[in-house]
Amino acid sequence: MSKQTITVIKGDGIGPSIVEAAIEVLAKAGCDFDYEYVDAGLTALEKTGELLPQATLDAIARNKITLKGPLTTPVGDGFTSINVTLRKQFSLYANVRPVISFKGTKARYENIDIITIRENTEGMYSGHRQLLSEDGLVAEASSIITREGAERIAVFAFETARRENRKKVTIVHKANILKSTSGLFLKTAREVAARYPDIEAQEMIVDNTCMQLVMNPQQFDVIVTTNLFGDILSDLCAGLVGGLGMAPGANIGKDCAIFEAVHGSAPDIAGKNLANPSSVILASIQMLEYLQMQDKAEKIRSALADVIASGDRTTRDLGGSFGTTDFTAAVLERL
Ligand code: NAD
Repeated sequence: MSKQTITVIKGDGIGPSIVEAAIEVLAKAGCDFDYEYVDAGLTALEKTGELLPQATLDAIARNKITLKGPLTTPVGDGFTSINVTLRKQFSLYANVRPVISFKGTKARYENIDIITIRENTEGMYSGHRQLLSEDGLVAEASSIITREGAERIAVFAFETARRENRKKVTIVHKANILKSTSGLFLKTAREVAARYPDIEAQEMIVDNTCMQLVMNPQQFDVIVTTNLFGDILSDLCAGLVGGLGMAPGANIGKDCAIFEAVHGSAPDIAGKNLANPSSVILASIQMLEYLQMQDKAEKIRSALADVIASGDRTTRDLGGSFGTTDFTAAVLERL
């Protein structure tokens, strides 16, 4: 079998240091990949005058699998979010954000293991018809949900639950108020749920879900929801396990997948060797699972868990006083 080539976008700010850490970890765990390095974001803008050069898009399409650091979207008119552009360009319809409790973090809860599966291309978040009246007094935006979009994300969620031996999928909606859009999403997801009698399907309104996640998060297993609700709920879930430093995300389409940290480029700590590389390491674990390299994924997860649980050379956000390189060395030593 030919060697898998991974497209790597190191990203901006803390991106290069945490992505390099993840690649060292993958190598030490015995993952024999080739890497093709390309630029996007501020780094690409400075080099080529474009935020998302064609060569980067070509590499993503060619290699199918991408590991990506956070990108800075410059503030100002005319700059659309690179992440939203990538999701649309490659039809990355499923955003998969798992959160797991690691002993040793400053989290409020233990024993959390929740995957939020967010529809990534439709709904209010997709920026459709964003209008402001000429006098600046009236703003408008529209949300489009399709049966096809709702069905494929619901199928993705139930298939994920089945593959990972999970027991329950919670369909999160606001169909009582958003009767057309959320209504169609709920109706379609219900129909999909009926095809999976082995998995419990639960329906929950989004505001109640927020309260339940804070009061009793252990009741959740897989959550499936529309774009904007998923964006918000997945950050809430990250907060349950100690914050964005522990939150990875995968953007998955039919032919392509991009794995990344959920957090941004953290310009306030860039270049200071302070960033926690865990979320990109966790994203590379998600990538290994996607490539069906479960043994390597498990090896890295347990090395990372041991470093955090023992407080060996942990970064400031984890309660320690060490830097990115020390933390990475502690993980490498355990592999
Ligand atoms: P951020 O996530 O970069 O930072 C928020 C806070 O969390 C900061 O205090 C930062 O120091 C801290 N932080 C983030 N990651 C950390 C890590 N690994 N270790 C330790 N601390 C960490 O959010 P922001 O400051 O609002 O955004 C900065 C830039 O990132 C913006 O240009 C934004 O557009 C971009 N962004 C990119 C992505 C992405 O590419 N996926 C996601 C979010 C934001």
